Order: sequence, then C-alpha cells, then structure tokens
Amino acid sequence: MTIKLVDLDWQHNLLKDELALAFHTVVNSSRFILGPQIRQLEENFAKYHHCQYGIGVSSGTDALVVALKALNLEPGDEVIVPAMTFYATAEAVCLVGATPVIVDVEPETLALDPSLTEAAITERTKVILPVHLHGWPVPLEPFLAIAQQYDLSIVEDCAQAHGAKEKGYPVGSRTIAGCFSFFPGKNMGALGDAGMVITNDPIMADTVRALANHGRKEKYFHEAIGYNARIDELQAAFLNIKLNHIEQWNEQRRALANRYNEQLSDLPLQLPPQWNDHRFACFHLYVVHCRTSELRDNLINFLKEHNIQSGIHYPVPLHLQPGLKFLGNERGDFPISEQAANTIISLPIYPGMSLQQQDYVIEKVTKFFRHG
Ligand SMILES: *Cc1c(COP(=O)(O)O)cnc(C)c1O
Repeated sequence: MTIKLVDLDWQHNLLKDELALAFHTVVNSSRFILGPQIRQLEENFAKYHHCQYGIGVSSGTDALVVALKALNLEPGDEVIVPAMTFYATAEAVCLVGATPVIVDVEPETLALDPSLTEAAITERTKVILPVHLHGWPVPLEPFLAIAQQYDLSIVEDCAQAHGAKEKGYPVGSRTIAGCFSFFPGKNMGALGDAGMVITNDPIMADTVRALANHGRKEKYFHEAIGYNARIDELQAAFLNIKLNHIEQWNEQRRALANRYNEQLSDLPLQLPPQWNDHRFACFHLYVVHCRTSELRDNLINFLKEHNIQSGIHYPVPLHLQPGLKFLGNERGDFPISEQAANTIISLPIYPGMSLQQQDYVIEKVTKFFRHG
C-alpha cells in the first residue's frame, strides 16, 4: 500500500464528469475573464463564511497582497506575523512595501500568541496578520481587543482554513479581510492557482476588486497602480463544483482526525486538541509533535520505508528563511516555532482516505514507537 500525504485522485475521480462539463461550458461561452462563474463563486463562497463580499483573485498570496495594499500601508509600516507559517504570509507584507514583524506562536496550536503580539506593537504597527494554521481557527477575541485598543487592522490568512469556525463565526468574517488560497492541495482546491478575499466592508471590497484588476473600476479608467491578480473563469467554474462538497469533505477530515486522536493517544506524541463546536477546525493538516527532532526524523524515514508520505509544515520558521534575513532576527528569537519546526510531522489526511488506508498509517506509526 502507498499512502500520499494529500491524495486528490479520489475527489477528481468523483467529480470528473462535472469538471469536464464545466470546462466545456466555459470554453463554449468564450468568457474567460470576470464572467458569471466568478460572480457565482464570489457570492456563494462569501456567504458560506457569513460575509457580504467575495473577490476572486489569482492566488492566496495575491489575496494577501491586495488586501494589505488596500489598507494603504507605507514603507516602514509594520505588520505582525507569526513565525510559524508558510513563507507567503510574510512575503505578501514585503511585496506591498511594509515590514513584517515576526512574533512567536502558542505551543499547542501554533497560533499567533496574543500577549507577544501586544508586546511587539510599536507606533509603526498597522496590521496584525494571524494565520489559521493547519485549519485551526485562531481565537480572535484577544486580537480584536488589541486591535481596538491600538487602532490596528486585522487581516486573516485563511489559506488553510476554508469553513473553519470559532464560536460559530467562520474565519474571515470578523475582521477587515479574510484571505483564502485555492491552491490544489488546500481544503478547497482549484485545478491550478486561485484565491479569494472576503470582507463585510464595502470600501474594502471595492478597493480590492479594483486593485486586483489594474486599479480600475471602469474599463480604461485606472485610479491606482494595481495588479493583474484576477481569478480565471475556468478555475471559478471548477471551484463552484467543489464548493458543493467542502462541508462534507471537512467533516470527513474531522472524522479522520478524531480517529487518529483516539488510536494514537497512547503513544509519546503531542496530539492536536480535540475539535469542538467552539473551535471548529477543518484539519487541513493533521499535525503531531514528537518529543525530539531525532525521533521525528526517524519516524519520517520509517514511514517512507513503508510507502507512507508525511510532511513538515513548516521545517523552517520565517525568521530563519534566507529571504527574510534582512529583518535582522536570529536563531533563538522564537523558540516555540523553532522547537515545532524540529519536532512536528504532518500525517496523511484528505477526503476520500479510506479507513483501511488510515489503519495502515496508524499501524506503522504505532509500530515505530513500540518496536523502534
Ligand atoms: C497556501 C498558503 C498561502 C499562499 O497561497 P497560494 O495560493 O499558494 O499563493 C499563504 N498562506 C498560507 C498559510 C498558506 O498555506
């Protein structure tokens, strides 16, 4: 048996006729840019997250770029980001000319730490950028309070958190902007790159829409230096199909995560917390912490020998990325993130994973710890 970390075959096999039909519909319409599929996706995806506006864009990275750009950040303005995230979170901040300020995360969920965030605020801080990492909704209330007290905006990186909710609030619904990625391996993935910004603020919506479309609101009248960061009509057509399944697929992920939690509970691993109605995670990844980095690396190799893929999300925290060296951070600055980078492992999880496949992973992980 070979088990991939993320297997998209099952869902694309399930949807292949619908996807093919969508392809033909768009090709026959000859509308490839800003057509009706996009409008439908924007409306329904925003509604799914209790938001009034959705703006389709070309990737999750571009969603962050246009949302941050819409806040009129100036050179030297600071945006607080967690040390443990995908590189694009900080890259987007740099691309709009602002400065990422890296802050450490909480040990259990790897969410941005609110007290360290408050301690990092300066007179140049403009935005806090929490990341709902691995599909765990960051508890937002402390950040909402801090943002109000210091007059800051919050932009959420929801790239891994489609449909995740905290206390009934979907991610992206309580701040100025939620930024999603439809990278193929995300919980809701396009057949290529795509993304979306959601918001309840009409000015934010208008500005983002213009920025993603060459800074224009009308054809040939450009009000700002923008981007060509539109979503493709074809990708929107595919995503409209997948949106019908995302709730059920997230439910499958939660069921698999619960099963891992139960079956791995006796092993010397730090498991993810149990999800509940207050922290309604969507398990983009199922991440456990080993006791040491040596154990983690050995486990990865052991699983590989048994044809089981695993991952590390992420092996290098932001402050140790060569591309962000100019920020002047050093090894040791963010110990929780460094520790996590050395000890976490992502086990296979995806909708369509059979119980038999999961049992095989559980059996091998158990065997590793029981018999080395
Ligand atoms: C995937 C991802 C992004 C970037 O999304 P793309 O669509 O690949 O540009 C940003 N932040 C996080 C946390 C991600 O996982």
